[in-house]
Amino acid sequence: MKSIKRKYDALIIGFGKGGKTLAAYLANKGWQVALVEQSALMYGGTCINIACIPTKFLVHSAETHVPYALAIDEKNQLTANLRQRNYDSVDESPNAMVITGKATFISPHLLSIRLNDTGEEVLIEAERIMINTGATGCIPPIPGIHSSRRVFTSTTLIEQTELPQKLVIIGGGYIALEFANMYAQFGSNITLIDKSPFFLPGEDRDVADVIQSILSDKGIRIEMGVTIEAIETDDPRHDVVVFRNHAGEIEEVKASAILVAVGRQPYTEGLNLSAAGVEQDAKGFIRVNERLQTNVPHIWAIGDVNGGPQFTYISLDDFRIIRSQFFGFGEHTLLDRKNIPSSLFISPPLSHVGLREHEALRQGYRIRVATLPAAVNMRAQIIKQTEGLLKAIVDADTNQILGCTLLCAHSSELINLVQVAMNAKLDFTVLRDTIYTHPTMSEALNDLFAKL
Ligand SMILES: Cc1cc2nc3c(=O)[nH]c(=O)nc-3n(C[C@H](O)[C@H](O)[C@H](O)COP(=O)(O)OP(=O)(O)OC[C@H]3O[C@@H](n4cnc5c(N)ncnc54)[C@H](O)[C@@H]3O)c2cc1C
Repeated sequence: MKSIKRKYDALIIGFGKGGKTLAAYLANKGWQVALVEQSALMYGGTCINIACIPTKFLVHSAETHVPYALAIDEKNQLTANLRQRNYDSVDESPNAMVITGKATFISPHLLSIRLNDTGEEVLIEAERIMINTGATGCIPPIPGIHSSRRVFTSTTLIEQTELPQKLVIIGGGYIALEFANMYAQFGSNITLIDKSPFFLPGEDRDVADVIQSILSDKGIRIEMGVTIEAIETDDPRHDVVVFRNHAGEIEEVKASAILVAVGRQPYTEGLNLSAAGVEQDAKGFIRVNERLQTNVPHIWAIGDVNGGPQFTYISLDDFRIIRSQFFGFGEHTLLDRKNIPSSLFISPPLSHVGLREHEALRQGYRIRVATLPAAVNMRAQIIKQTEGLLKAIVDADTNQILGCTLLCAHSSELINLVQVAMNAKLDFTVLRDTIYTHPTMSEALNDLFAKL
């Protein structure tokens, strides 16, 4: 085994959103940068290869009735193109280099990279190191789960070119619901089972109830308060998921495929963090301060692995925080983060920013609440997407918007407008009285806030 030693100003481990943006930025500023990615199929990271982009492409394909196998094929072409573009965006810089191999700490400034193509070990020394290694799906300890060939994660299910006729989804969070809605629209028969006694427990009940009935109307069977006993794999035609329902009775459901979507855990396997002295919390996330610095001052952690909200746009904002330390006064920190919006890409999408009604009440606010059925909006009627509900929570003492939940067409765009109003601390009457183009979903904000 040959050992080559190279020295860089910055070493970025993992091709995540924040890391790749930082690599290109630092290289452009003249730093010598190495970006290490363990898989040639992951240039560009989770978002473009196995998460946001391919899943939203498939959501759209399902909504527009593209046959499943064709949609998977087109999705693969899209991600292959993006992968190449992402690789080039870093590697084309004369100051940056993409190294394909697995990074392991040897000491706080020294890492070993085992190269994928030759198996050779390269030693890299770096003044500053950013860990951007992401997260991976949790697999719960269910008897039979490891012996089944029909158990998939969100990554492996969207590699299948054959539509599963009977898809059982274990979990009730964002990924579980997105896949339930999408595969139902492709034509699968869906059973979603989750241990939580309540459907979408973090949402206000009125919103959760509307979502549950929209999904049920699509034929999705939802079983909450469930304990899974086993996955039986004896029959060559299908697996059987055996579970105890909310009433304590044993039930069985046949599955041609089983999607496990019960949360994602930090991916630090093989990093050997202890050799660098980097601390992790009880769940394995890398501990960081408000500047994303670990307990070792020249090592930072970016993206899902640092325990922040697991979104691509948060990883991107992590880049901004680190940039402000190297090329500013460190003025941007985690403490600035507020009103982070989110979208769940079911049909219609559910988007949210700020506090829910129950959260605002728990925090002691005096509130005013407005709700509006999506069906009253003309754009919703034109595009025949009249399902859904809009809801706003306003501080009765200041007239400022505390939170907003939009379950309606185009809500993933609209929510950003509400977020800007909240960040600017605008009175709710601004959104109520603004002139919007017509006929658009934005006009629903005129009507929603007029209800107050
Ligand atoms: C199905 C699904 C759908 C999602 N949809 C959305 C969405 O619509 N919108 C949204 O904002 N977020 C979405 N997310 C979340 C989003 O994908 C993640 O928050 C985001 O991609 C995290 O990026 P990151 O910067 O943490 O790193 P990642 O993009 O996860 O990159 C980490 C990289 O590090 C590499 N790596 C790990 N260890 C090593 C090592 N030792 N050496 C070298 N390389 C290593 C990995 O191979 C990987 O490529 C979704 C997630 C999933 C699973």
